[in-house]
Amino acid sequence: MATPMVTEASVGIYFNQNNFFPPLSSDSWVKAFTLVSISDKITRNNILNISILKKQYDWDLSPFYKSENDPQIEKDIEKESKLAEAFIKKWKNRKDYLEDPNVLCTALSEYEKFTDGGIFNKPLYYLWLRTHLDQTDKKVKAKEKLVYDKAIQYINRLQFFDLKIGKIKRRLQKKFLTSPALSKYKHNLERSFTLSKYDLTEKEETVINLLSPNSSSNWSDMLNEFLSKETGTVNNKRITFEELFSLTEKPEQAVRDKAGKEIDRILGKWVDIAEHEINTAIDTQRKIRELRKISEPDKLRHISDDIETKVVKRLIKSVTNSFYISHRYYSLISKLLRKKSLGYHERGVTYGKIKSKHKIKDALSLVSKTYMKLDKGLGNIVTEMISKRRIDAFPKKGKCSGAFCVFSGSKFPVYVLLNHTNTLPDTLTIAHELGHAVNDHLQIRNLPQNNLGTPLSTAEVASTFFENFLLEEILKKASPEEKLSILINRLSSDISTIFRQTACYNFELELHDEIKKKGYLTKEKIGELFNKHMSAYLGPNVKLTKKHENWWVYWSHIRSPFYVYSYASGLLISKFLQVKVKEDSKFMIKVKQFLSAGISKSPKEIFLDLGIDITENSFWEKGLKDIENLLNTTEELAKNLGRI
Ligand SMILES: [Zn+2]
Repeated sequence: MATPMVTEASVGIYFNQNNFFPPLSSDSWVKAFTLVSISDKITRNNILNISILKKQYDWDLSPFYKSENDPQIEKDIEKESKLAEAFIKKWKNRKDYLEDPNVLCTALSEYEKFTDGGIFNKPLYYLWLRTHLDQTDKKVKAKEKLVYDKAIQYINRLQFFDLKIGKIKRRLQKKFLTSPALSKYKHNLERSFTLSKYDLTEKEETVINLLSPNSSSNWSDMLNEFLSKETGTVNNKRITFEELFSLTEKPEQAVRDKAGKEIDRILGKWVDIAEHEINTAIDTQRKIRELRKISEPDKLRHISDDIETKVVKRLIKSVTNSFYISHRYYSLISKLLRKKSLGYHERGVTYGKIKSKHKIKDALSLVSKTYMKLDKGLGNIVTEMISKRRIDAFPKKGKCSGAFCVFSGSKFPVYVLLNHTNTLPDTLTIAHELGHAVNDHLQIRNLPQNNLGTPLSTAEVASTFFENFLLEEILKKASPEEKLSILINRLSSDISTIFRQTACYNFELELHDEIKKKGYLTKEKIGELFNKHMSAYLGPNVKLTKKHENWWVYWSHIRSPFYVYSYASGLLISKFLQVKVKEDSKFMIKVKQFLSAGISKSPKEIFLDLGIDITENSFWEKGLKDIENLLNTTEELAKNLGRI
């Protein structure tokens, strides 16, 4: 539904989820309220000199309010509160909308009058954007909290509507699904009915909700906190746990090895805690799943992501059968570095230097041209984003780090936040975030508010699609040496997104299975499983030792069970679409159709409308073949340059 969408790392304070599965009902569509799902890498923290900032590259927030003190904010809140009160009064005790589709249609249209993007969307979206521009502004933060607390009260009081729709009697469900009056809500209703099948009684759900943090997320939060307080020493400098990981990618061998050793030491210190944490989390998940009568450990993930189990199984199998591609990559990088093999800790090592500078004006111009070349309409969206100042480009004091694209509801603009420092990866980030932005624009233009959104499995399709086309433009102008570095770094990232995440999925499957069979798994056994699955995708040129058996400890995604498939599915779908467009530029029409579909149907159905069956092996193999071709090109270039 109309939620501010943000991609990759989640930073939103409204992000209504813990690391455990949220209760099933909270995923259903009528929750128009979850305010922010945010995308992308919020990692760097690079502050440029403030004097270079130009207003031209700052967000224009005039579609909202003059400031956080604008009296219009209170007026808007009052107006929506009245609508919500009237809605509750009118519908709370009625049952007719659960029996007559036409009555439900009336209720829904009244409901949507104040829930486009969530209740109090305009003030909350505005204050949310402001706090991300300056996280140190306590006044704005306080105001945001006040409004949010008020919104939560209404969210709770309006929950009855969502819950009751899910409970429409089985024998009446078909009538609702085939009603012409409700046709635009068809998939929302299907989702609601499917999800409610796994609901327990209200009292049971309440107990699960209350105990969920104690049984799972509190444990992983505790471990995270311990890890985040750790520091290591490299070259006589004290650095944070997180920074140690970026040092394992450095060209200098000694730095990589020292950083790896420090990580070994820290993980060794906390592995006993992690052993208890992961066993408890997985055992609790299983027990709750069994109450819901779901036996397979990954099924709940698929249900809540609106993706068929068959599709995910096919994806995982196709990638696993292609692990030879990642083996070939690690063989190539070993040769380039003149090493027989790499240590597990240095698998992300970068190669060569990329010197070219990308000033914001040139970067934006190159990005616009790339979009324009693919499709004029999409190019126009990009130029409008730039001219209407929907992009906040430079690092500033207090501004959140990384990059994201966000939108909330159908009435307010899509915004992109960057921290541009003139590097090549920064320029790729622009194409990436604007990919999310055009995806959002196409949906807002084509869909009713109840169908706005992107399922997890396809959330990163648009972004990586346009990012890769930009990369091709950049490669055309790069020197052969630079080209080799760019290709290696791209391959490294693709391998990590597709093969590594798939290996993690396989690891999780076995981990859940073993804990179920044995009741409890020791750190040694977990470590053995981990090394086995990491070796499977890394191949003979990456050496895993006993020390690496603890490297699952910090992997936070394992705490969101089976989440990792979505990285692989997003990039492989994107690659499939890229290949099709390269074969025939007219295929862009279908790409746009796909990007315009939102959550009106499941991904499988959306592709079927385009004549594509994503349950077939050949679908996933096309994207995998594309990576293999990229690897061939890179190897050839390395040979021509005498590097291998
Ligand atoms: Zn993204």
